[in-house]
Amino acid sequence: MACFRSVFSTRFPQSHRLFLHLASPLPRAPAHTTAAATPQPLFFIRQINMQAQNVAARLSSSGFLHAQGLVGGKWTDAYDGKTIEVRNPATGEVIANVPCMGRNETNDAITSAYDAFNSWKKLTAADRSKRLRKWYDLLMAHKEELGQLITLEQGKPLKEAIGEVGYGAGFIEFSAEEAKRVYGDIIPSPLPDRRLFVLKQPVGVVGAITPWNFPLAMITRKVGPALACGCTVVIKPSELTPLTALAAAELSLQAGIPPGVVNVVMGNASEIGEALLSSPKVRKITFTGSTAVGKKLMAGSAGTVKKVSLELGGNAPCIVFDDADLEVALKGTLATKFRNSGQTCVCANRILVQEGIYDKFADALSTAVQNMKVGNGFGEDVVQGPLINEAAVQKVESLIKDAISKGAKVILGGKRHSLGMTFYEPTVISDVKNEMLISREEVFGPVAPLLKFKTEEEAIHMANDTNAGLAAYLFTTNVQRSWRVSEALEYGIVGVNEGIISTEVAPFGGVKQSGVGREGSKYGMDEYLEIKYVCLGNLS
Ligand code: ADP
Repeated sequence: MACFRSVFSTRFPQSHRLFLHLASPLPRAPAHTTAAATPQPLFFIRQINMQAQNVAARLSSSGFLHAQGLVGGKWTDAYDGKTIEVRNPATGEVIANVPCMGRNETNDAITSAYDAFNSWKKLTAADRSKRLRKWYDLLMAHKEELGQLITLEQGKPLKEAIGEVGYGAGFIEFSAEEAKRVYGDIIPSPLPDRRLFVLKQPVGVVGAITPWNFPLAMITRKVGPALACGCTVVIKPSELTPLTALAAAELSLQAGIPPGVVNVVMGNASEIGEALLSSPKVRKITFTGSTAVGKKLMAGSAGTVKKVSLELGGNAPCIVFDDADLEVALKGTLATKFRNSGQTCVCANRILVQEGIYDKFADALSTAVQNMKVGNGFGEDVVQGPLINEAAVQKVESLIKDAISKGAKVILGGKRHSLGMTFYEPTVISDVKNEMLISREEVFGPVAPLLKFKTEEEAIHMANDTNAGLAAYLFTTNVQRSWRVSEALEYGIVGVNEGIISTEVAPFGGVKQSGVGREGSKYGMDEYLEIKYVCLGNLS
């Protein structure tokens, strides 16, 4: 991510640094687009831009757009004044310029978090709980604005974005409740003059690095339990979607969470990462993102032996057996495949369909997918927004090209949408094989690849034939089979006859190279706690 010095960054106060390119032309038109075949009236494209501009202007004038980092409770520019553009993926327009921070700003954020830790950890659990509850209330009170911000910088349809706010805020509410239940233990002593206690204490300063696909929920899922346990945090949101993180951080201050407890830096990812990894003050790294970066962070944490939680890439199989209820399987598959335009790590990546139901399922799926409305997330009835950037579209294109060259057939879509930009047609492809690249890598796009299988054993073998192990889905009306297959799948999460499995009350996380640790639920709290054994002796 390139940084550049902005003339706005040092001389003007924060609100003046937010500017909107109201008259900018449509940028970055893709080279390969169906626009020529199906010309889009300019009117629609203008309408998309106007809707987004109106929302951005409203958020800006209501003070909801923050475009500075948060260090020790102070809104801060990059020390050298450099900034990064945050763009709307639906229009390519610049929404704001945020500071391009690096090592120095991160070290200051770590120091602030370290200082704040001394007092935050000493508050009673009840006090921390109340402040978190207040933060939850504020997030929910502003769910419309936060949802708009998510749609603006990430692209997902507004209804889905507002849904993310409810889901994301849920982690803060749940953590507020769990804060009061961090129990220790008393162990029966093997000797009469001793008493053995187990205390649970916060790990300390946490570095939280998050991706762009859930600009709010990926942050609250980490920060909620960290704060509930008494830790303080330095958040590094994705440079593609930092505005939601900054708005949420502002609400944390309004909720009475003291300055320094929540810090936000963004900019040069590898420099910020390096500062977090090398500091002995940072005791834990929690990360959601690609497997490649996760491995780097895990290796980098070894130098100071930090605790790590990693939620990395998935390659979710979605298995539809002959005995599935077709309607249930269809609904579940659509939900897990096309949510967020296929850009989640628990999205079905391979749809394995048993031979007896294969044709019927492929027809029903294609009919349903054909009816999905694609467009700007602010548009009415839109269910599929743009992909996050050009690189994401190119990856989808290359995986489809590889699959076709090896015998797969496009039933529907398979190309860029006529809206241009990073819009991609919701796609169904058949005759996919487990050896094709599309079955080995995360597609992260609106593409449903169908693979055929004969037996339950074959389905389990195909499903487990990957280094990933985050989420898996199966559809069957046979109770014995649902248990048998759930237990055989090498995955951290299994959805049976259900495509939406994420909730703050259940443990989310993967096995194999999909990561370590769990987020959400009571198990997610353990990730931010150290166990201390206290032996009280000489009591006789
Ligand atoms: P994605 O493909 O979802 O963008 P990444 O793993 O590239 O996944 O990014 C997830 C998060 O990790 C983002 O906030 C990104 O800026 C950050 N990141 C990328 N590279 C590094 C790095 N070397 N050190 C620390 N954070 C990084």
